[in-house]
Amino acid sequence: MVEDQLRARGIRDERVLAAMGKIPRHLFVEEHLRDSAYDDNALSISEGQTISQPYMVALMTELLELKGDEKVLEVGTGSGYQAAVLSELAIEVFTVERIETLALRARKTLERLNRKNVRVFVSDGSVGLPEHAPYDAIIVTAAAPHIPHEYIDQLKMNGRLVIPVGSRFSQILYKITKTPDGTTTITSTPCVFVPLIGKEGWDDEKGVYH
Ligand code: SAM
Repeated sequence: MVEDQLRARGIRDERVLAAMGKIPRHLFVEEHLRDSAYDDNALSISEGQTISQPYMVALMTELLELKGDEKVLEVGTGSGYQAAVLSELAIEVFTVERIETLALRARKTLERLNRKNVRVFVSDGSVGLPEHAPYDAIIVTAAAPHIPHEYIDQLKMNGRLVIPVGSRFSQILYKITKTPDGTTTITSTPCVFVPLIGKEGWDDEKGVYH
């Protein structure tokens, strides 16, 4: 996976490559899908949600430019896989999931892997996690209809936000850096994520933007 799907497609951050080589992705998928855990695609994790494609995890993580001493927020815990990768690369990881059953399962898997620097929360992450802000980096692993100002508010100066923004069905991945003058934005790649549901996201079920 690391050589064929990540390095071959241009992932260059050796720390990201090493982290993804180390975290056992098969422990984050349902048992009947374990043989497919390292395939080049997203997989179902129940509740209509997915564990993202390995390449997308690597690309988003690389864009965060983590050096090792950062406090990171992930929105959309899902299986906990992305949080586990982040736990190798940052000092402290906060991850928030709106579906309690997924959060509980992710917490169990992360505990099993002794990921002591990850804390899993159940709440609407479309407004971030203000009680533990500010963060050096925020990664949103669900599709937002716009960039919630709460994420920028909760970033430290020079902090990075990586987020897919677009319609419910297709998005563009953006990297936004908070600067003294406001923000700078880099456009990365087209992508498809499940919707971010919540106050600053999409309405549950109806596909309506709040
Ligand atoms: N990062 C995950 C992983 O490593 O398995 C995959 C995330 S999955 C593509 C997107 C997740 O975002 C889903 O589990 C979904 O329930 C969650 N989600 C959607 N809206 C959310 C919100 N407002 N707050 C927190 N989580 C949300």
